[in-house]
Amino acid sequence: MKRIYKIMMLSSAAAMLASCAPKEGDFKYTIDSFADLKVMRYRIPGWEDLSLQQKEYAYHLAEAAKYGRDILWDQNCKDNLRVRHALEAILECDAVDTKAPGYEDFLVYAKRVFFSNGIHHHYAEDKIFPACSREYFASLMNLAGVKDDELLEIIYNPAIYPQRRSTETSGDIVKLSAVNFYEGVTRDEVEKYYAGIVDPSDPEPVSWGLNTKVVKDADGVIREYPWKVGGIYSPAIEKICVELEKAAAVAENDIQKRALALLVEYYKTGDLKKWDEFNIEWVKDTLGTVDFINGFIEDYNDPLGRKASWEGYVNIKDAEASKRSDILSANAQWFEDNSPVDPRFKKATVKGISAKVINAVCLAGDSYPSTPIGINLPNADWIRKEHGSKSVTIANITHTYNYAADELPTSTLAEFAYSKKEIELAKKWGSVADEIHTDLHECLGHGSGQLLPGVSTTAMGEYASALEEARADLFGLYYTADPKMVELGIMPDPEAYKAEYANYIRNGLMVQFTRVELGRPNTEAHMQNRKLIAEWCYEKGAADNVIEKKVRDGKTYFVVNDYVKLRDLFAQLLAEIQRIKSEGDYEAGKALIETYAVNIDPELHKEVLERYKALNLKPYGGFVNPEIQPVLDKDGNVTDYVPVYTDDYLGQMLQYGKKYRTL
Ligand code: ZN
Repeated sequence: MKRIYKIMMLSSAAAMLASCAPKEGDFKYTIDSFADLKVMRYRIPGWEDLSLQQKEYAYHLAEAAKYGRDILWDQNCKDNLRVRHALEAILECDAVDTKAPGYEDFLVYAKRVFFSNGIHHHYAEDKIFPACSREYFASLMNLAGVKDDELLEIIYNPAIYPQRRSTETSGDIVKLSAVNFYEGVTRDEVEKYYAGIVDPSDPEPVSWGLNTKVVKDADGVIREYPWKVGGIYSPAIEKICVELEKAAAVAENDIQKRALALLVEYYKTGDLKKWDEFNIEWVKDTLGTVDFINGFIEDYNDPLGRKASWEGYVNIKDAEASKRSDILSANAQWFEDNSPVDPRFKKATVKGISAKVINAVCLAGDSYPSTPIGINLPNADWIRKEHGSKSVTIANITHTYNYAADELPTSTLAEFAYSKKEIELAKKWGSVADEIHTDLHECLGHGSGQLLPGVSTTAMGEYASALEEARADLFGLYYTADPKMVELGIMPDPEAYKAEYANYIRNGLMVQFTRVELGRPNTEAHMQNRKLIAEWCYEKGAADNVIEKKVRDGKTYFVVNDYVKLRDLFAQLLAEIQRIKSEGDYEAGKALIETYAVNIDPELHKEVLERYKALNLKPYGGFVNPEIQPVLDKDGNVTDYVPVYTDDYLGQMLQYGKKYRTL
């Protein structure tokens, strides 16, 4: 017996707001919260200003994005879809008593799995377990007619798939990771396999292994199997291609049309040269209002940093807010020339840095429901160097985080900031200074600097992500305080940067540990980067008391005493990390990460978790998408596309499970 889930519980106020300027106050941003997560909804400012053709373009790009959903689930772990299909069957089964003891725990588990696109925590990598008993879960499966004898073992046995991407420092991280990128091979075998393919002297190398699974076949031979039409994930990729072709027909310009044709060709052939050609076209499109990400993009989930997770993103340019990053881009060379790194590691000409502020229209794959607030693509270093890259900061997502925080009675700022003065500084300038830091990180930070000739782009191995994020963050931190920023009209006040500095140190040394389970190390790349920078500056500035640890009523605080010296420390560390990357000094990079980024002081960690718990906040946020719906006239012609703002997280998940089920 199936129960039709009430999908898209619309608040009528929200639906009406869709096409007019939103008023603060009568739109609830937080729509669900459970475990360590909260789910919000975002609005799309500027949607009404699009032409019908632009809306149609965005609509098909959004459909293409959503059709890739199952790919990511399967990439994260090969049994994820099995688990999800069982959860969907139970959630839609009429016979299940939703008042029974245990059901609430089951529901929380289901919501967490949906949030993570699989059975592992989206951030911490560890397997998630249901709080309800195995017997109860079995009874639910029975009621829903799910016949899968192995499933309970997969869900409940801690020895099966303990982590998505293994964070073990000893052992074979390929074997220990649950991600579905490798089968029957060891780390050593994979590394040898690629060493045999990759030509280090190729100035324009394709991203080897980006879109394939590596398998040792029954004959003992290691082979790559591509994710493409006619290969792995074909049913999903075919659907994506259909929507991309529909989008191409209504694209804004010829560059977009060429880019989409190349993307479809890449999906049909799996040819990584086509992927590069697509990216080169895609980078050129800086004039369109509607833009997208669609493909196997980021390699964070692969323990060896080669295989990319599927991701989709559709966005529209925020013209007004983009002026700020346009100014940064126009001055890119000045920033490169004046950065505190060794001239040998600077780019003689920085080109093609296109930076804009966007508003998200659709999040998908690896960007849904948890999503970044800034993106810089493409990832291939030589394309970035030869053709430039696109950097975006995502305004409506950032603003939604702020609005949602304002809906709460307490804040981490009030708890972890030492003084009223610090809180006032943060309230006055924190938000704008943080956005400017993100702009600098994305627009200029990642694009700055160069490798010395002959240094491999993969020289930093497993430390590459954290070091690269640290480099971009430091570039941003250094310039956030530069008088040039005020001169350019970007920073509103010469003192505003202090809010970002105080916030960064407080977060890096303390607040961010709210996201780590007690007793576990700090493993996520961005968090490692922040801890590395904050700890390094705390230690190196100790003699001058640049950052002071204070204890009041048993609570620890970190206070910045000398902002000028702190900026100087940022400059020193930026110079060193740029040297490490430029020279490919793996050992020095490793030492920085292992010394400053990984281990959390257990006493402080415990204190931070307790203080945070008392605030009753959720450390992670994610988003439901507005549903872009065609409006038809009486003859069935589409006259408009309207975003409809759901407030039903589970409803959207179940709807996607039906509509975009491909694998
Ligand atoms: Zn970054």
